[in-house]
Amino acid sequence: MSKLEIRIFGDPVLRQRAHEVEDFDGRLATLAGNMFDTMRAAEGVGLAANQVGVLKRLFTWELEREADDGTVEAMGSAVVNPVLLDSSEDIQDGDEGCLSFPGLFYPVDRPLRVEVGYQDLGGDDHTVQLEGFLARIWLHEMDHLNGILFIDHLAKHDKVEALKRMREYRTEQGIEDARIKPGGLLLGRSSDRQL
Ligand code: ZN
Repeated sequence: MSKLEIRIFGDPVLRQRAHEVEDFDGRLATLAGNMFDTMRAAEGVGLAANQVGVLKRLFTWELEREADDGTVEAMGSAVVNPVLLDSSEDIQDGDEGCLSFPGLFYPVDRPLRVEVGYQDLGGDDHTVQLEGFLARIWLHEMDHLNGILFIDHLAKHDKVEALKRMREYRTEQGIEDARIKPGGLLLGRSSDRQL
């Protein structure tokens, strides 16, 4: 297993819709395993395949919870081809962050309860009801698979500030703006590449 590079806001892959998974093979399991490693190393509670540059409808999540006897246990899974079946009119508020927006947290309203259909890594179908923070995680990750980011849910002034902070972050980290598209077309710099 190995860690993958987490894509930072500004990377076009975060705005693309991921494709349905059709092959439930060893490559999918390996990808999920690597996503778990990447998510744990970054101390995240969820990670969508888009965030490691793969356009597959797959995300991983993991939370620690304290059992009645005080022991801490991890709960989590790999979720494939999730479909939102139902969501409550009751709303939860709370801060939300994203591994593709390091250090940023803003309030995001989400449905309190959801029902989701999905497949596991073996291709078996499941339906699950989720509530609270767990529902928030799954909704956030399902958004990723549709190219939607948590900043799209923010109040306008929060979104303006988040975009500004991400521009600063990319400059500080020396992250290049993504200009090279698949196929090698160089966009935004036409002076010596006109054809
Ligand atoms: Zn995220």
